[in-house]
Amino acid sequence: MNHVGIGYDVHRLVEGRKLILGGVEIAHPKGLEGHSDADVLMHAVCDALLGALGESDIGHFFPNTDPRWQGAPSKTFLEEAARQVKFRQGAIVNIDATIMAEEPKVSPHVAAMKENIALALGVNVKRIGIKATTNEHLGFVGRAEGIAALAVASVDLPD
Ligand code: MG
Repeated sequence: MNHVGIGYDVHRLVEGRKLILGGVEIAHPKGLEGHSDADVLMHAVCDALLGALGESDIGHFFPNTDPRWQGAPSKTFLEEAARQVKFRQGAIVNIDATIMAEEPKVSPHVAAMKENIALALGVNVKRIGIKATTNEHLGFVGRAEGIAALAVASVDLPD
C-alpha cells in the first residue's frame, strides 16, 4: 500500500555558521542556525518519511536538547528514517522536495544534494526530486532571513 507524508522545515540564516543544504556545503556569508547542522532540506525530507509512516516528527527522534545531536550531520537523521521504513518492511518509492531560498543560488548544487540524500536513504538517485525557488522577495524567505524546505515522500508499506 502506498503511503505519503509531508515535511516542512525552516531555519534562520545567521552569520558565523556554515550553510549546509542537502549535505552540500555552499559558500555563503551566512549559514543556517540550529542545534544540528541545520540542514533544512534533509530535515523536511526526514519529516516527510516519518509522516508517511505515521510517526512523530524529527524532533521526537532527535531532540534539540540532546547534546549528541549538537552539530550532527543531518544525514544521520535520514539514515534513521530509512531504518524506520525498513523496520516496517517498507520501501521508499520516491521523495520530492522544494527549497525556498532568496539567496544563495542553490540550483547548481541540486545534483550533489540528490546524491547525498539518495546515499543516506539507500535508494537510487532517480527516486529523489529536488527543486529550488526564490520567494519573489516576499516574506521572511524573500528578505533572506531564512531558508525553508517542503518535501513529500511516498513509501510502499505492507498495510
Ligand atoms: Mg530543522
